[in-house]
Amino acid sequence: MMSLINLDRIQKHYGKGQSGVCALGGISFSIETGEMIAVVGKSGSGKSTLLNILGGLDSPTDGEYSFAGKRIDRLKPNHLAEFRRCNIGFVVQHFALIDDMTVFDNIALPLRYRKMAGKLINEKVEHLLADMEISDKKKAYPPELSSGQCQRVAIARAIINKPSVLLADEPTGALDEQTGCHIMDIIRNLNEQGMTTIIATHDRDIASSCQRIIQLSDGHIV
Ligand code: ADP
Ligand code: MG
Repeated sequence: MMSLINLDRIQKHYGKGQSGVCALGGISFSIETGEMIAVVGKSGSGKSTLLNILGGLDSPTDGEYSFAGKRIDRLKPNHLAEFRRCNIGFVVQHFALIDDMTVFDNIALPLRYRKMAGKLINEKVEHLLADMEISDKKKAYPPELSSGQCQRVAIARAIINKPSVLLADEPTGALDEQTGCHIMDIIRNLNEQGMTTIIATHDRDIASSCQRIIQLSDGHIV
């Protein structure tokens, strides 16, 4: 059967010649629908580069990336953006929220891009605010929130389009241990509801709680 994601000898080089960097040196693996995978490896090993390519934020220099049987690696930027919008939710370490927009508006942003009707936006955002237990913060601005609350907002924004894949790049990296556990419970819950989940992490406990671990070293799987 066809895998959801298939990477075949994916390479990513930054710059050229002597000063160039080989961030990924030819990576191949498959991911099935519903899996929960940890990507581990020390800083600079290529974790973020791999997630960025999986999420269509970046294109590989060489190799083939297929998603549900479609080639992604050669998509032009506008088609890549569409692929991302339709399939991918992305969560990062430092949340990447818009500080001068309220919590509500941060979460609503992906729906406004799609020009969804206001009433429907309202319903969907209220629902997720409740799920994330931050309903009381909907009119607050990100700088007024704790880091755990910020990550809840960022997750809500990432999943409001119901992506099939959730990519999380060190989602607990800026959180204390207990808050990190709460965020992992949320992510695990989304995975249990069927969202294919890939997490880059330094945390051994998080990694060992995933079904599969992909370990990177200098841009290669070890
Ligand atoms: P990790 O997330 O595991 O810390 P990264 O994927 O961020 O690793 O980086 C892998 C390698 O690629 C590092 O050597 C890094 O310096 C390099 N790199 C990442 N992004 C860029 C970029 N935009 N330009 C040049 N080099 C980059
Ligand atoms: Mg990184």
